[in-house]
Amino acid sequence: MGLAGTADKWRGAAGHLWLTARALFLLAVLFSLTAAARADGLLGATGYKMAGDATRMRIVMTFDREPDVKWFLLRGPNRLVVDLPRTRFALDAKDVKPRGLVRAVRFGDQGQGSRLILTGKGPFAVDKLDVLKNDDGGYRIAIDMSAASEREFDEALANQSLTTGSTVSADKGGRVGTGPISAPGHRFTVVIDPGHGGVDGGAESAGGTVEKNVTLAFATELRGKLAAVGKYDVYMTRENDVYLTLDDRVRIARQHEADLLISIHADTIAVKGLRGATVYTLSDKASDPEAQALADRENLSDQFAGMRIEDDNKEVTDILIDLIRRETHGFSMSFAHTLVGQLSTSVGLINNPQRSAGFKVLKAPDVPSVLVELGYLSNSKDEAQLLSADWRGKAAQSITNAVALFAAAKAGARAGG
Ligand code: ZN
Repeated sequence: MGLAGTADKWRGAAGHLWLTARALFLLAVLFSLTAAARADGLLGATGYKMAGDATRMRIVMTFDREPDVKWFLLRGPNRLVVDLPRTRFALDAKDVKPRGLVRAVRFGDQGQGSRLILTGKGPFAVDKLDVLKNDDGGYRIAIDMSAASEREFDEALANQSLTTGSTVSADKGGRVGTGPISAPGHRFTVVIDPGHGGVDGGAESAGGTVEKNVTLAFATELRGKLAAVGKYDVYMTRENDVYLTLDDRVRIARQHEADLLISIHADTIAVKGLRGATVYTLSDKASDPEAQALADRENLSDQFAGMRIEDDNKEVTDILIDLIRRETHGFSMSFAHTLVGQLSTSVGLINNPQRSAGFKVLKAPDVPSVLVELGYLSNSKDEAQLLSADWRGKAAQSITNAVALFAAAKAGARAGG
């Protein structure tokens, strides 16, 4: 007992000594690294963080002292280039892994200086690029970027002169404030979003009808009807059986400067007798428990993308976007109202067919958006209708009529105001 105790003590002491030796060695290494950094005079990039999704990202890079920064845009592909003094990059590989709106992160020495290059998943806007002082004495570059259209990217590209991050923020009001309305030659643009796709099949009927196929067939029909009017530009978020995250769908709508996003779905529900269509808009508080449950189910779609990063959009959202969101929300509500009226003439609706809940796919701050549940795959009559080309044609025509009324009202308001 006593012996064992001594042995333990001895081992403990040896372990302690060894740890101390290792700590001293690490300290020495750290010291020499710091000394080397000081000696070669390079700026030290000490950390990198990237958060957000395919519609909105915040990127933060930390430095050991104040960096002199210049940035500009390049196209083909859409890139943000941040020029830095010669920099020693000590970044964690997992932190620079591309995600959300950013398809690639590259950084390195260019001889005269160093560069950070962010390649977008598509066109984007730099809402803000600031150099800020950290509490610990270091500095950071904070970049806010959001999905935008090619036109907006090109405009920023044309307007750009070398911008100094430390003193000048990018003009953030311009892009968000203008949007589709002021774009010259912009036709009323509708983006149709066939729900689900690829590994995400969505709901499924007892007979094996899969939601992702129903939504694609319907969306294709609707696109045909809208295109036939000849007055709108019409796009689909997907044209075949592919998986898209919810924020990818929002990003696509923003990239087309959509005046309207219509997301198409066909749910199932435990109550087999329940049937009819429903039109949903976005809200923080669900209109009823069923709407909340549905939004929760639809938002699960993102789980197919594997591990999700935390939704920290709140941090990025500013008052300006809140205001636009309010205006956009008004448009969404108005379209939903018109749509319910038109659908009621051709297809069955559930009780209180205009509802709201926190659907992620409806969250574009500047694109009026609605989600249409065409009917319930859990109801055999609804299922039969959803599979009928004739029914799809009628329902698509009603939505087209609603779009026409909404587009005319918006054009009228623009001409009048
Ligand atoms: Zn769905």
